[in-house]
Amino acid sequence: MSALRDELTPLLGAKTAKALAGSLDIHTVSDLLRHYPRRYAERGELTDIAGLEIGEHVTVMARIEKVTSRPMKARYGNLLEVVITDGRRRLSCAFFNQAAKHSKGLVIGKSGLFAGKVTVFRDNLQLANPEYELIDDEADPSAMETFLAEMIPVYPAAQGVPTWSIVKCVRQVLDTLDVVEDPMPPELLKRYGFAGLEDAMRNIHRPADWAQLENARKRLKWDEAMAVQLIFAQRRHSAISRPAVGNPHKDGGLLDAFDKRLPFELTAGQREIGDVLARDLSGTHPMNRLLQGEVGSGKTVVALRAMLQVVDSGRQAAMLAPTEVLASQHARSLREMLGDIGQAGELGAADNATKVTLLTGSMGAKERKQALLDTVSGAAGIIVGTHAIIQDTVSFAELGFVVVDEQHRFGVEQRDALRSRGADSTSPHVLVMTATPIPRTVAMTVYGDLEVSSLREMPVGRSPIATTVVPVAEKPAWLDRVWQRVTEEVGKGHQAYIVCPRIGDEPASDKGDKRPPLAVLDVAQELENGALSGLRLGILHGRMPSDEKDTVMRAFTAGKLDVLVATTVIEVGVNVPNATAMVIMDADRFGVSQLHQLRGRVGRGSVPGLCLLVTETLDGTTTRERLAAVESTTDGFELSRMDLELRREGDILGSTQSGKKSGLKLLSLLRDEEVIAEARERSQEIVTKDPALAAYPGLAHMIADVVDSDRAEYLEKT
Ligand code: ADP
Ligand code: MG
Repeated sequence: MSALRDELTPLLGAKTAKALAGSLDIHTVSDLLRHYPRRYAERGELTDIAGLEIGEHVTVMARIEKVTSRPMKARYGNLLEVVITDGRRRLSCAFFNQAAKHSKGLVIGKSGLFAGKVTVFRDNLQLANPEYELIDDEADPSAMETFLAEMIPVYPAAQGVPTWSIVKCVRQVLDTLDVVEDPMPPELLKRYGFAGLEDAMRNIHRPADWAQLENARKRLKWDEAMAVQLIFAQRRHSAISRPAVGNPHKDGGLLDAFDKRLPFELTAGQREIGDVLARDLSGTHPMNRLLQGEVGSGKTVVALRAMLQVVDSGRQAAMLAPTEVLASQHARSLREMLGDIGQAGELGAADNATKVTLLTGSMGAKERKQALLDTVSGAAGIIVGTHAIIQDTVSFAELGFVVVDEQHRFGVEQRDALRSRGADSTSPHVLVMTATPIPRTVAMTVYGDLEVSSLREMPVGRSPIATTVVPVAEKPAWLDRVWQRVTEEVGKGHQAYIVCPRIGDEPASDKGDKRPPLAVLDVAQELENGALSGLRLGILHGRMPSDEKDTVMRAFTAGKLDVLVATTVIEVGVNVPNATAMVIMDADRFGVSQLHQLRGRVGRGSVPGLCLLVTETLDGTTTRERLAAVESTTDGFELSRMDLELRREGDILGSTQSGKKSGLKLLSLLRDEEVIAEARERSQEIVTKDPALAAYPGLAHMIADVVDSDRAEYLEKT
């Protein structure tokens, strides 16, 4: 009898177990049984050779069409070439110096599975020394048995562990499997009509028909959704179980004063979310909330109102930005919005005024000392800085609330570090804001430890942004037109950004034959001496000293520069309403959401914005499709959905970034929104009743089986 948590060595022998562990990271019965078939070949159905990707390890079902053997010219030895076909296309299998071993079995007309890495040899697809298993190979009774089944599972395989070996291992394990208990509470199985775990596992590996397979997949997909959501429910629970200090609204305080002088009406969304935040902030458990909203949707004012509620209670609020440029910009715009109620200590300040203090790593020693003093003494009600101020040993008088702007650069460790920064071992309330709209499934999965609020409505009077792809490989003349447009905008008294992927001060690397991405320093110089000569150009990038950055940004804001050539340091938060045009060079080097962020810098005033995406990539490539998506809509939510579709799913939750195998094999962020949402609700219910899952020991094991612990962390970092 074998159980899910058993090691494979005693069951399969050391050699097989080692191969599985080494190449597929499969160690236990559960690992093996959760290594699901990638697809199922139906008897007699051949694999479409046209769909094979070069460089991939593939398993194809094909028929032998031609067998030739000849001595190799350049080397001693012989070459056995076996051409296999799916009926339309051909694939050549080359066996080097193995003719004697293989020529007996590889006979024209026979079919079988062939596995190996796809390469190209003289314009033909080839498998070099593939592993294979012929389906009418009567010498091997186990193979016979496999192929008597109607549906032949094809597993993700690896060199040395072909799919038919996995079939045998799985069968061996299933023969002795005894799943004692189903970890899923019976009421959930009943509610959703799910198959039991043992049935599901048997049926996904050896389905009798498609209906049985569908049932099995439905159940096992649910396991994955539950595992992830239970982890998040536990995280949310442990985060909100900490004590926090409540900050109930104070009548006649700074918030009321601020609301009275607001020059515009809050949108309905801003009001609604404002109420939610006000309630959260007055509670005695920490708020952990993600606020997502389009670039320009007015998140800052929402955050500022929340900060004022906390300041009114005598505590401090910190606002963290990903870069120093942004931090100083935030400090400036908060001060502007507050007017005399933010000028404590200055001439003309209101009576109960507070103070906004900027605190960055590269401030001058004297300035920084004053900022630290204001922070520790409590003179500053609002402290603005980069993420570093949370890791640093900066002391606060009483930190009650932290606003993190631009979530996507803020990882889980940083979020955790925050939780211990409140006074007297309380946790501050936390609001993370992102301008990158995320599809609901991603929000529930990647930011699953946070409650999510969305600002979907834009304030009135926002100008549209027209985006155009400029394909310079196909239409080189368009580039001149780009610089003409920039000149025209400047002629009308407006300003422009030119964004490049690289700074250009790094040592030249001669790796690879691909042209390096265009650089700020090169492009600026070229334009200054060429197409844009006569205009006032400035340069901004992350490696400039921070006072220089500040000077440039101020000059641009004040209209003393016409054109700012920059890296993505301007991606977030920079607000210069007079800037109407943006040219993004090598636009294909940026992600969809990054492009969307970038163009949000224009169209902030009363004049429509213009965004030109310059690229050398060719029409028909996925990269161009991504650019076309950015061109087609300015609705960030719609765009994030299209982006999700254009990306391979693996890039979102797969193994590509972590290098580890993904815990989620069946669950799809694209198609399984319903499953994820249901699992989230059920997990929340279970964890609310029983945070440690004491009454559900099986669930805790299941979480570990489905999502290993590194993986769980990784989920948050994406
Ligand atoms: P976000 O941070 O979400 O990108 P901001 O908070 O910077 O957006 O807001 C962009 C601009 O819109 C700011 O100049 C802000 O003052 C203005 N704004 C915010 N809310 C409103 C509103 N309800 N009506 C009009 N203008 C608004
Ligand atoms: Mg903002």
